[in-house]
Amino acid sequence: MLMIIVMNLGADEENILEVEEKVKEFGYSVHRSTGEKRTILGAIGLPREDVKELLEGIPSVEKVVLVSPPYMLVSREFKREKTVFKVGDVEIGGEKIVLIAGPCAVEGESYLQAAELVKNAGADILRGGAYKPRSSPYSFQGLEEEGLKIMVEARKLTGLPLITEVLDQHSIDTVAECADIIQVGARNMQNFKLLKELGQLNKPVLLKRGMSATIEEWLMAAEYLLLSGNERVILCERGIRTFETYTRNTLDISAVPIAKELSHLPVFVDPSHGTGKWKWVPSMCLAAIAAGADGLLVEVHPSPEEALCDGSQSLIPQRFAQMLEPLRGVAQSVGRTL
Ligand code: PEP
Ligand code: MN
Repeated sequence: MLMIIVMNLGADEENILEVEEKVKEFGYSVHRSTGEKRTILGAIGLPREDVKELLEGIPSVEKVVLVSPPYMLVSREFKREKTVFKVGDVEIGGEKIVLIAGPCAVEGESYLQAAELVKNAGADILRGGAYKPRSSPYSFQGLEEEGLKIMVEARKLTGLPLITEVLDQHSIDTVAECADIIQVGARNMQNFKLLKELGQLNKPVLLKRGMSATIEEWLMAAEYLLLSGNERVILCERGIRTFETYTRNTLDISAVPIAKELSHLPVFVDPSHGTGKWKWVPSMCLAAIAAGADGLLVEVHPSPEEALCDGSQSLIPQRFAQMLEPLRGVAQSVGRTL
């Protein structure tokens, strides 16, 4: 990873040697380039922003530029080929666009019927929340362990792999025992302790983009998982906060080609939280596939008007099934299958 250190116009030999020494202390190799007026140092080592900040505090240093991205393992620069892995029989990041669907929350035994409907409608992976991160403490918080048990039943019934969210470090083992993919929600994207622990688990992780996170912050969060040893990571765009109020969030479709260019990790899109309204979900699914998404995460509920969580953005199973035909057309036109 390359860092360029530009010395001040007035920097003398002693100043330059001081900076070279400092950089070497951090384990970088240094290459000096002496110009007529200015000296530039090229340093190769880890992409450390703290070192950049520290060097910029030295009076003889004009500025420091990180030429490589501040994330390394996640970057295309580090690994050219796309990351592809399997969850059960489902290939993630391959030619086929993966469909994750199901209710926002597990509300009881009715989840089993929802799971069957979602499977018959064409889903590859079943979603459901047992631990729900609700904005209000008065809202339904999820059935927790009871919900996980019902999800395991649903897997037996449908044969579909399960994805569910983990909210904190205490429930990692309980969730990991049941889930095939662990979801890190938008609100936890920068819970670095949680990410470090999840990195040590032998389980794929779907990392939602934080609602106010830049693409770089999102990729840095993924770097925590990879650095702790977990390479099976899915990035998921789920909309960001903007001044727009017509939608719940603003789905950042441009994040898809950008994240795919910067990173080798598979990129999914969640148009349900992205828009907050079921009727806009199908068009955002079309857009996501056209933009190069490797998968979709869609909330589907048999009776959204009775849902305890996110009913307004949940498709009924028939509508979910109906939208797949047009999605197939777009998938084909961008060289993918569905
Ligand atoms: C969810 O998937 O139900 C959820 C809470 O998502 P997010 O973290 O994106 O808000
Ligand atoms: Mn939800």
